[in-house]
Amino acid sequence: MIVRGIRAHIIQVLCKMGATTHPHEFAALLREEGGIISELDLLPGTLGGESHATMHLDMMPLDTHIAGSAHSHPNGVIRPSYADLTFFPRAGRYHIIIGYPYRTIDWQCFLTDGSVYPLEVVE
Ligand SMILES: [Zn+2]
Repeated sequence: MIVRGIRAHIIQVLCKMGATTHPHEFAALLREEGGIISELDLLPGTLGGESHATMHLDMMPLDTHIAGSAHSHPNGVIRPSYADLTFFPRAGRYHIIIGYPYRTIDWQCFLTDGSVYPLEVVE
């Protein structure tokens, strides 16, 4: 499935989760419907960790509509870390990083190889 967009309200939820968990990270899975990311799955055990958010892959639902992941970077650096690049291929194709100060412009979507993907925001 080619994902081309994300619902505006999902971006708002991601911003809110980033601000709420700051200075810790959160991580979530992104679910698509018809090529548009329209739902989030929070993974148990990923909220408020001291270290870099790691997905609990054993908790990951077996679902073909999982498009990828989203997590926050409290340091505001909106690009994948080395740990992110090793994690991305295991959790779908599209990966959003949202950074401090978590405004609706403080995010970017990346493909598994770390290249920027132009995800369209749709209402
Ligand atoms: Zn990261």
